[in-house]
Amino acid sequence: MAPRSLIVGNWKMNMNCLSSKTLAADIIQNVSSKTIELAICPPFVYLLPVSLLLSSSKVLLGGQDCHNYKSGAHTGDIAPEMLVDLGCTYVILGHSERRICHNENNLVVRSKAKAAIEAGLIPIICVGETENERSAGKALEVVDKQIRGSLPERLNSNNLVVAYEPIWAIGTGRIPNIEYISIVHSHIRNILGDICYDAVNIRVLYGGSVKPDNAKKLMSVINVNGALVGSSSLQAADFLAIAEEMS
Ligand code: PEP
Repeated sequence: MAPRSLIVGNWKMNMNCLSSKTLAADIIQNVSSKTIELAICPPFVYLLPVSLLLSSSKVLLGGQDCHNYKSGAHTGDIAPEMLVDLGCTYVILGHSERRICHNENNLVVRSKAKAAIEAGLIPIICVGETENERSAGKALEVVDKQIRGSLPERLNSNNLVVAYEPIWAIGTGRIPNIEYISIVHSHIRNILGDICYDAVNIRVLYGGSVKPDNAKKLMSVINVNGALVGSSSLQAADFLAIAEEMS
């Protein structure tokens, strides 16, 4: 049986306090009882107001990053325990925007993932190739290195989600063809099989320009177990339409 699907909304550095609450409330009010697992990841500063709204719903909360230490002199950083304290279940780690803009390499992602798991969070570890790497036919190699380098030991389907996000598809409106996604996702499943005892049950999400009109097609691909959604998660109607299409 395929793992239970998951749709995650990454709000990135968008929204304000009022619009965060409005969006979360809209999602909660309109989510169908049959919808698969949903999680939203607001900016850190809006986690608390959103968390208070989500407490009476089945929509889960996640952070967009965390530090690898529990506490200390790390100005501007957020410990995994702080995310747990605010009701988070998930944390996105190794997003390409963090890997590129904050120079986060596989070792950094790995130590954050280890700390997140120790705190009781489920990391959503992002991997994916650049446009140049894709053109050079290196996507599988890149993803292989990122997964083996970013995943700590002792992972299983209860404490890990992987998101395949081709960087050239993020925010561009372009998505790879279905065959390409299928090849990469199968490859990821095989690598997970080398590392984890229950790889078949680990959710592997697709991310990059997921929209209501391509969600069904993406979800039909074997080894795609949901989506990590950026811009289309900023409108409740679009986010919920994606969830419906993927249910
Ligand atoms: C992302 O950045 O994780 C993402 C998938 O963005 P978008 O859906 O906007 O392409």
